[in-house]
Amino acid sequence: MKASSYLIPTTKDDPQDAVVASHKLMMRAGLVRKSAAGLYSYLPLGLRILKKIENIVREEMDASGALEFQLPILTPSEIWKESGRWDKMGKEMFRIKDRHDNENCLGPTHEESFCVLVKPMVRSYKDLPINVYQIHTKFRDEIRPRFGVIRSREFTMKDAYSFHLDDASLDETYQKMRQTYRRIFARLGLATIPVQADSGNMGGSASEEFMVVSPIGEETLTLCDSCGFSGNIEKTPVVKKTSLASKQEEESIVETPGQKSISDVAQFLSVKEEETLKAVALSYDGKYVLVFLQGDRELNENKLKNFLGANELRPMGQSELTRFGLIAGFIGPGFAESSDLLILVDSILEPNFPYVAGANEIDKHKKGVQLSKYYDFSKIQTLDLSQSKEGDPCPNCGHALKAEKGIEVGHIFKLGQKYSKAFEISVLNDKGKATLTTMGCYGIGVNRCMATVIEQCNDDKGIFWPVSIAPFEVCLVSIAKTQEDIARVGEVYSSLKQAGIDVLWDDRDLGPGFKFKDSELIGFPVRLTLGKGFLEKNEITILNRKTMEEKTISGSDPKTLIEEINSLLRSLRKELDDRTKEIG
Ligand code: ATP
Ligand code: MG
Repeated sequence: MKASSYLIPTTKDDPQDAVVASHKLMMRAGLVRKSAAGLYSYLPLGLRILKKIENIVREEMDASGALEFQLPILTPSEIWKESGRWDKMGKEMFRIKDRHDNENCLGPTHEESFCVLVKPMVRSYKDLPINVYQIHTKFRDEIRPRFGVIRSREFTMKDAYSFHLDDASLDETYQKMRQTYRRIFARLGLATIPVQADSGNMGGSASEEFMVVSPIGEETLTLCDSCGFSGNIEKTPVVKKTSLASKQEEESIVETPGQKSISDVAQFLSVKEEETLKAVALSYDGKYVLVFLQGDRELNENKLKNFLGANELRPMGQSELTRFGLIAGFIGPGFAESSDLLILVDSILEPNFPYVAGANEIDKHKKGVQLSKYYDFSKIQTLDLSQSKEGDPCPNCGHALKAEKGIEVGHIFKLGQKYSKAFEISVLNDKGKATLTTMGCYGIGVNRCMATVIEQCNDDKGIFWPVSIAPFEVCLVSIAKTQEDIARVGEVYSSLKQAGIDVLWDDRDLGPGFKFKDSELIGFPVRLTLGKGFLEKNEITILNRKTMEEKTISGSDPKTLIEEINSLLRSLRKELDDRTKEIG
């Protein structure tokens, strides 16, 4: 490909709305252009990268035995009503009425569509297991689209769905997908950590997210250096710590004027935050719950939502607090109980420890509050509701956990029978008895992978692509003015093309500095310079973009050059291959 007949619209300045490296570099390198909030157009260079990623995903999915499909993006509301997600999906779903007034949505995910499609095609246990997938556009009206294509409103996802006769078969495919995902990410040059994750509104039992550790990650991972445990903080169990020394204290009321927050109260009364009780009053789906937590802990909304089976969770408003006799900032055990208010106690709280708690009166707290004096612990529900934090004991081995930020690039779930039940997907087993199937589902964000690679592979000059997904593997920069000189470079270019090298010839009529900058910004793994040295002495400089190491070779035989380029490309590929082979 010649740059003079291609499109390389690089820019010097960072776009105003870009805060992360990948977003800035994708725009500056001319890979994408923003069309509206959370919507991006791919330009030819960017599309080449995206397609290479898709192909790696496709090759590995096919090798795992999965079958590729393509389903409509527009889906009728009926199927979402059948699974119960038409309401549950809330505002993230783009809804459209057609001319007949029928409701539809632009698919944010395709469990429902694939269930309806696959159901009549599987009749006997002999038709199972089956793993179906597509690489297609998804729409999600994200509340905060950001970081460019990392969280956009329209994106490409590889989504796969597997159907099984029993749990053992589901587990086998789930493990195979886990392996496939590790191979895919290794081939893309991404180091991922699979972490135990929350299943969200997907339903189901096991789920793992594939995370790339990065300071811009929106997820927090908990990692154990000792036993290798890794979890999403939303799911990480908080195990009991006995750091509170046992203490005797009579209950008494203390004046705490204006001291509403835990840190204010703890400071005012000279106690540790963990010796105070935090009360969180919430409304969920028209019902009410009050949670007691240790003062230094945050509520983990996912744990609570999963326990309650709740869709929406929000703090109680003033009128709701008043209705239950609760005073914001001063809530503690002892308010009049109501059958409409569920009380939950976090399991790390000590029933007999004398905590500082709200006195249910303005500007007053109580000291020496023992939960066991207010609640019957054989009846009240105690459960793990707090957010894990760095330094907490590992739920596996007790060693202190580390916390890191991570970008989620893929997600695998054991869905169980939620959708099989909703769509009544059964097959006849080997005894001729109708048996409900069980399912798994597996997603990868293709565009998000592209941006995540840039997050991991950039320096002050721009991007350095892993050779597996580079827009072109080699960029040939020529500095030739006369027709004769251009023709000499053209001969080299042709011999590279003939040798099957994926090369872009930057033959644009621009200064060498400009072309060098562009090639480093876009990040072609190998750059050849054919300048004065070439025209005078047949010298060609080969640059490894990642390491910026240069080598100059001379001689007029193109074979030497081709062998040099291929040897560098082989070593770049080998790095990725070795990591993929390690996985198996
Ligand atoms: P997140 O927690 O980041 O919103 P999710 O749990 O909603 O992700 P899934 O429904 O599991 O994501 O989708 C599978 C994959 O699709 C994700 O792992 C991610 O790589 C990608 N993805 C999800 N939402 C977006 C988005 N808004 N823009 C780009 N990629 C996305
Ligand atoms: Mg999401």
